[in-house]
Amino acid sequence: MDRTVKLRVRVDYATYSALKEVEEEYREVLEEAINYGLSSKTASFTRIKAGIYGEEREKHKDLPSHYIYTACEDASERLDSFEKLKKRGRAYTDKPSVRMVTVHLDDHLWKFSLSIISISTKKGKVLISPTFPKIFWEYYNKGWRIASEARFKLLKGNVVELYIVFKKDEPKPYEPKGFIPVDLNENSVSVLIDEKPILLEANTKKITLGYEYRRKSMTTGKSTKDRDVKRKLKKLREGDKKADVRRKLAKLIVKEAYESSSAIILEDLPRNTPEHMVKDVKDSQLRLRIYRSAFSSMKNAIIEKAREFGVPVVLVNPSYTSSTCPIHGSKIIYQPDGGIAPRVGVCERGKEKWHRDVVSLYNLLKRAGDVTPVLLGSKGSHDPPVVKLGRWLRAKSLHSIMNEHKMNEMKV
Ligand SMILES: [Zn+2]
Repeated sequence: MDRTVKLRVRVDYATYSALKEVEEEYREVLEEAINYGLSSKTASFTRIKAGIYGEEREKHKDLPSHYIYTACEDASERLDSFEKLKKRGRAYTDKPSVRMVTVHLDDHLWKFSLSIISISTKKGKVLISPTFPKIFWEYYNKGWRIASEARFKLLKGNVVELYIVFKKDEPKPYEPKGFIPVDLNENSVSVLIDEKPILLEANTKKITLGYEYRRKSMTTGKSTKDRDVKRKLKKLREGDKKADVRRKLAKLIVKEAYESSSAIILEDLPRNTPEHMVKDVKDSQLRLRIYRSAFSSMKNAIIEKAREFGVPVVLVNPSYTSSTCPIHGSKIIYQPDGGIAPRVGVCERGKEKWHRDVVSLYNLLKRAGDVTPVLLGSKGSHDPPVVKLGRWLRAKSLHSIMNEHKMNEMKV
């Protein structure tokens, strides 16, 4: 597992120009390395290095030699991801373009300490006194270690942007004692805890559509290149806000699983949009955006958090999870026009009522191999408690939400 933290430091002119010199020569080596890789049809670091090292060493005599290694590594990574893009039909140039250069550093080229960071240049070592953002201390104080590799980029105004990489070993996933199925939907995420379903409102679709509406009203009749419009669009920060909701939700779920030594069960959703899930949205671009943030990004957020805590994740086949009765195995019929409760259906055989998301939860449990019998006809199966976005965002744990809900029910 690794995380990158950016540090911005303003340096004096001498330091800046020494680094500028490195950047320029590094770029030249990088370009040679990419060209070599392309002409000899390889993305292998070892082969690229073997191919160009001698000549580049001659050309760049005073450049610390490890920059040639790191440029070859950089080239190898760029060629690799270019190859992947090409396979997916997403490469729009015939070779990887080197527009942005961040200079890669290895343990010979830089040294880290909290007071001084040194970087090798053609004129010897330059020393930088860093100031650290809050996020740096969060990793630094929580058992992450600083990796031997780093990168830097030069910005305007004598500013150096350093990318410090933090690493941490992933804990080994434990043997689960139980399961927590998680069902993702366009507006909510539901979970089954202690056999009780609960729906957490995420409003992903509503939020995305809301932003789309605001964006449209800001740009109608105006150019998106207009400075004022640009500024307003930037202020929307749709991505940040949705990522925040995702992260918090993932954390609540993973913490709950961790504390009860459970595994999380998720639907192994297909890469492409299951169109039916958001079929009422006409615009296909918009549909894709909703799908990505409600399903794939949410799923990834949970998986990533689970890895951090060593919580095992079981991925199961998603087909028919909301349309098969978990008790009778028969079909569940939903009103085609929705009606007043569009997400509630009736079992064809037992005639009992089911909420779509609850059906999915029990079916996920079954598919993961759990054999706990499903309770018939409980209120929760067709009318599960719904927790509003604002409520769970402030909650410490899913358990505290469940307990609070129980208290409220007793009062009623
Ligand atoms: Zn049934």
